[in-house]
Amino acid sequence: MKNDLLIIAGPCAVESREQIMRIAKKLKGLGIEYLRAGAFKPRTNPDSFQGLGELGIIYLLEAKKETGLKIVTEIMSVEQLDKYGEYIDIIQIGARNMYNYELLKALGKINKPILLKRAFSATYKEWISACEYIKKAGNDKVILCERGIRSFDDSTRNVLDIQAIPYIKKNTQLPIIVDPSHASGHRYMVESDSLAAVAAGCDGLIIEVHDRPEEALSDKEQAIDIEDLRKILYKVGKIKELISS
Ligand code: PEP
Ligand code: MN
Repeated sequence: MKNDLLIIAGPCAVESREQIMRIAKKLKGLGIEYLRAGAFKPRTNPDSFQGLGELGIIYLLEAKKETGLKIVTEIMSVEQLDKYGEYIDIIQIGARNMYNYELLKALGKINKPILLKRAFSATYKEWISACEYIKKAGNDKVILCERGIRSFDDSTRNVLDIQAIPYIKKNTQLPIIVDPSHASGHRYMVESDSLAAVAAGCDGLIIEVHDRPEEALSDKEQAIDIEDLRKILYKVGKIKELISS
C-alpha cells in the first residue's frame, strides 16, 4: 500500500529472467510492493506470445527472492491453481475467466487474495455474483478489478467504467482497484485513467509498466515506462491525500 493505495505494477508478461529481474529492481526503487506479470497469457489470437508458462512462474519467484516484491500473476485453470497457487501472493483471474465457475469455486477453497477482473461485458451484478462463488466456497479475500468494458468505439481498447467504483463501494464491502492499461490500451491515457480512478475513490491500481516499452512482447502500446509510473504515483498520492482530508 502506498498512501493507502494498493499499487500493483509490472510488465504484461514475463519475457525472460533478465527482463523481469531488471524491471522488479526498478519498481522496488519506486517503493512498489507488488509485482505483476503474466506467465500464462490468455491471448485473443493463438499466434500471439502465450507467455513462458511454468518458467515464467519460476522467474517471478526469483525476482521475489531478490527484491522482496510480492507476486501477482494470472492463473487460468484449476490445474494451474493446484500447481502454482501456493507460490503466488495475489492470484489474478482475468476478464476471460470471470465466468469460469469451477475455477471460482476452487479459488474459494484457498487462503489467498484473489484479484477478480471484470469480464468484457459483465454487468455489475454478474461480476458480484462471480465474487460470491469465491466467497461462498470459503474465501472472502476478493479484490475486484475494473479493467474497462467493451464499447462501440474501437479507438480505445475498452472504456474505463468509472461508475463501477461508487457502485461496488455502495453495494459490496470489497475493495476495488482499476486497471488503466487494459481499459485504454494506450500509454498516453494511462495517467488520466489512473488519476480519475483514484479521484473516484478506488482502492488501488494495477498498471502495466516496462523499462523498455518498445520491446515488450505483449501489450506494448499500453506499456508505460518507469519514469511515467513515478509521475503517476506522485500525482495519485496527491489526489488520495486530497480526497482523504
Ligand atoms: C492482463 O492483466 O494482462 C490481462 C490479460 O488482463 P484482462 O484479463 O483484463 O484482459
Ligand atoms: Mn496485458
